[in-house]
Formats: sequence, C-alpha cells, structure tokens
Amino acid sequence: MMDIESFVSFCKRRGFVYQNSEIYGGFAGFYDYGPIGVEILRNIKNEWWNSIIHQNEEIVGIEGTLITHPKVWKASGHTDEFIDYISECKKCGQSFRADHLILDKTGKKVEGMKSSDLNGLIKKENIKCPTCKGELKNSVEFNLMFKTQIGPGKGETSYLRPETAQLIYLNFKNILDTTRLKIPFGIAQIGKAFRNEISPRNFLFRMREFQQMEMQYFVSEKDADKYFEKWKKSRLKWYKEIGINNKKIRTVEHTKKELAHYAKKAIDIEYKFDFGWKEIEGVHNRGDWDLKQHQKFSNQKLDYFDEKTKKRYIPWIIETSAGLDRIFLAVLMDSYKEETVKGRKRIVLKLHPKIAPYKAAVFPLVKKDRLPKKAKEIYKKIKECFPAFYDEKGSIGKMYRRMDEIGTCYCVTVDHQTLEDNTVTIRERDTMKQKRIDVENITKEIYKNLYS
Ligand code: ATP
Repeated sequence: MMDIESFVSFCKRRGFVYQNSEIYGGFAGFYDYGPIGVEILRNIKNEWWNSIIHQNEEIVGIEGTLITHPKVWKASGHTDEFIDYISECKKCGQSFRADHLILDKTGKKVEGMKSSDLNGLIKKENIKCPTCKGELKNSVEFNLMFKTQIGPGKGETSYLRPETAQLIYLNFKNILDTTRLKIPFGIAQIGKAFRNEISPRNFLFRMREFQQMEMQYFVSEKDADKYFEKWKKSRLKWYKEIGINNKKIRTVEHTKKELAHYAKKAIDIEYKFDFGWKEIEGVHNRGDWDLKQHQKFSNQKLDYFDEKTKKRYIPWIIETSAGLDRIFLAVLMDSYKEETVKGRKRIVLKLHPKIAPYKAAVFPLVKKDRLPKKAKEIYKKIKECFPAFYDEKGSIGKMYRRMDEIGTCYCVTVDHQTLEDNTVTIRERDTMKQKRIDVENITKEIYKNLYS
C-alpha cells in the first residue's frame, strides 16, 4: 500500500506523469505523460487496439473529432442530463460533488439520485464540508460538458466531447455504406474525452481531460444478451493478458436504480486501487436508444437491412467503454513492488513485457577500453527490433536500479570478455538472475519473453 502523494511523486521522479502547467502552480484535473509514461500508455493502447480490432475481422476503427455539431449532444441527452450535483460550503465557499460526500461518509452509492433526495440525505447524515466542517448549501445541478465557441463573433456554441461513443454512432451509416460489414459488427475508437469534473481527485483516476477506449458492437435484439456476455468475458480476459492481477479485478452489476434510463444491462469492471475498488471500464447493453435518438434528431435513416429476413431494424448496441488513464494507473499500481535485496530496498515495476516501456537496456561495464563503442553497437542492433535504452552514467548497480523502477525487462552488460568472445551478461528484471549469452541470441531471448 502506498499513499497517493508518494505515488504521484514516484511517477514524476521516473518520468511517467507530470502535473500539467506545473510551472504556473498546476491545473487541477489535468496531467501530462512524460517520456516513460507515454511509452507505457502507447503499449496499453496498442494491446487494446490489437485485441479489439486486429484480432476481430468484423471490427473496424475510426478517429473522430473532439468537437461536433451541438445537436449531437442534444440527441444523446448530454445537454439536458449530463449533470452532477454541487454542494457548496457556506463558510469556505468550496464546491463538492454531493453524491461523493455521501459515499465518503456512509459508503452508500447514490448514483441516479435527484437533488432533493441528495439534500435530504446530507441533512439526515449531518454531512459537513470536508475541508472546514462548515454547513453546506442545498445542492444544484452542474452540466459536466466543456462549452466552446465555434467561429468568430458570437459564433455557435458547441462542446468538447464528454465521451467518444457518439462519434461512432455518427459514423454508423458511413461504415455500413463503405464497408462490407454485416451485423454483428463493431466500431472502435481511442481518444480524448473531456468532463468538467466538480472535484477531480485520486491523480489520474478522475481527470477533466482523459482518454477512452470504446467499442460499440451492433447486434440484433435477440442476440444482445449473448454478445453482452461474450464481451464481458473477453474484456476480463484482456486485463489478465496485460498482466493485471486477477484477484484485484471484479465486476459489479448496476442495480435497476443505477441503470441509465435507456440501458438494459450494465456492469462495471473494477480494480482494487490503493484507494479502494473503483470502476475502470463499463460493459453496457444500450438497446437501440442511441441510433433511434440520432435518427430522430437528424431525420436520417439509421436502420439496418437484414438480407436474410428482408427486414429493416435499428440495431442494438453492446458497448465496452474503458478509461485509458485509469487502466494506466491500475497497471502501474499493480506492478509496483518494494523488495529488500541484501538489506537494501529495491523498487521494481513488474510490468508485463508487452507493457514495459523498454524491453532491454544496454550498459558498458566501464566507460573505457572500447566497451562503450561495443555496447552502442549491441544497443543499435536491439533497438532495430524492440524499444531499448542505452546508459553509461553511473555504476552498474545504479543503472540496474533505474531500469527496475521503470520496468525494463532485461539489462545487458558489456564487459571485457564481450570483446573476446562476443558474449554479454543478461539480467532478468523480476528474478535478478544473470546469465551469459551470445550477442547473436539477445533478440531471440527478448522475443521469447515477450510472447511466452
Ligand atoms: P464515474 O462514475 O467514475 O464518473 P462513469 O461511469 O461516468 O465514471 P463512463 O461514462 O462509463 O464513466 O466512462 C467510461 C470510462 O471512462 C470509465 O469506466 C472510466 O474508466 C473513464 N472515465 C470516466 N470519467 C473519467 C474521468 N473523469 N477521468 C478519467 N477517466 C474517466
């Protein structure tokens, strides 16, 4: 267990994540990924893209815009209903998300509750301002979408997308018309989403700008339950495949009260963070609500013609909606280990090889006797096949430690013997076991590790 502040500073020290606009004092709810973090993030995205798109011939990808026609958000219900409730402190003026105040104090989830009920509960449970213990005002509605002005002058008001899913529905007809896909088929996307969260917190867990990895699977009504189960299973398997401890993953089904009004069934996939069990992904049966809404608001036919039955119908949608940043945080927290080795603390990120930022690092034992030149030759050879790192600053022990902390799978040390027989010492990250191998076999060894 590590407190979140220590974890944030570890992430900064090793170049995973930085507070956005730090030189101006930071900007709540916004984070930037550093050189090592961005490699891990990219690997998670690639694993998702591969498992969803490249492994399924009936699923294709798109990349939609961040800003769309404002009618999209009217049709989707976001303009009127994408709302949280704010409770403001009468004394210090700070604002809080009302449902979170109740959850924190009583452990009771109150998703879907209306303002008057929330206010009743806050009074009944005698909930005060978490910062100054002041009394709270009655909660009010707050729409989470970021507004933006399009064009000069008064222009037109639109919004930064609060989810990627709508871009997929907007392109449903285009995909049908320009591909040979037949139901069941899927459309997937990875991209930014923006939500003006009232109280961003827990580092990357609740941000105002974040990334989603979403897939919408279009099916007939009669097959919806079957595909819901299929995708739930498939998504759970994926977390195992990227190395997340299965014991820290669970599913929680939404109760009738928690379900969105249009949803037929929904589960959250949760990870046991150091700050509790929290949602990292949702799998939803959305019925035919989304396409029906867009058909109604756009006056364009968004139905599907079934050639077998010769009937037209609006497809049902099974959605898998994952938060990339939350998965990144889960991956990091899950792989972070502190061990004692020969009386000294070793921090090691036991990342799955596919997720590790570098598959190998190469060092010369000393910075002389032609060792750096030979080490660079070997580094060049490895990086043609895998992301690799070269270092010659510091003792071997220090270089090992730096690599352990960022999860590099292998450290390759070039010494005087290398010059004689073309062999190197290769050290495995998790076991710290070392062996001597021929330079010619290094990439084979790394490859074996990646795909075993
Ligand atoms: P929460 O209840 O935690 O606000 P949500 O149920 O509103 O989340 P969805 O709308 O289902 O979330 O979005 C799908 C996924 O997007 C979530 O499972 C989560 O991983 C991610 N996500 C949502 N909001 C945020 C956020 N503010 N910061 C980071 N990731 C987010």
